[in-house]
Amino acid sequence: MIFTIAIDGPAAAGKGTVSRAVAEHFGFRHLDTGLLYRAVGARTLRGEDPLAAAEALSPEDLLDPGLRGQDVAAAASRVAVLPAVRAALVGFQRGFARSEGGAVLDGRDIGTVICPEAEAKLYVTASPEIRAERRFAELAARGVEVTRAEVLEDVLARDARDMGRAEAPLCAAEDAVLIDTSELSAADATRAAIAAIETRRTGRV
Ligand code: C5P
Repeated sequence: MIFTIAIDGPAAAGKGTVSRAVAEHFGFRHLDTGLLYRAVGARTLRGEDPLAAAEALSPEDLLDPGLRGQDVAAAASRVAVLPAVRAALVGFQRGFARSEGGAVLDGRDIGTVICPEAEAKLYVTASPEIRAERRFAELAARGVEVTRAEVLEDVLARDARDMGRAEAPLCAAEDAVLIDTSELSAADATRAAIAAIETRRTGRV
């Protein structure tokens, strides 16, 4: 059985939480495609050329706990504007998407560029202020010293880069179901996502 669920949206909208829960619910494999860009970004912070870094990525790169940092996130969104870097990562993502048993991929361009043929597409979003507040709480819980204003500035800068770039800009696919998590708990957002996907699965399995 091949069934691809594409989940896109801006930083800290709840995509990761929803994607993991959806994958678990359906028993599908999950790929957080942001990790690919983060791993390339992390290599560039160590002085590597972005394209060489993208071509040299290995599964071990994705296990680095340092990939969650803010500096790596910023480096990821900088390498993500480079068409050659994006092209180098396409094959792996498409292969994963069509793997037997079903797959969930979350990112920025999954429903629009990587898997326009995905059987189900979601666009998970929330207001910048709410996303910044969530990210701030997450960082504070990890003991990272940062102010709310800095986190909001970072969220807005990443939005501008991700939505404004020429290559594969962040936007909802025409046939994506929109889920605004601003007023939703993680459990409610997950329920809404599963309900939307079930609608697409009806009649297929
Ligand atoms: O989702 P995450 O915050 O981990 O992504 C880090 C950065 O990687 C994003 O800000 C974006 O610039 C880039 N990215 C992308 N396309 C994807 C996933 C992530 O451009 N499919």
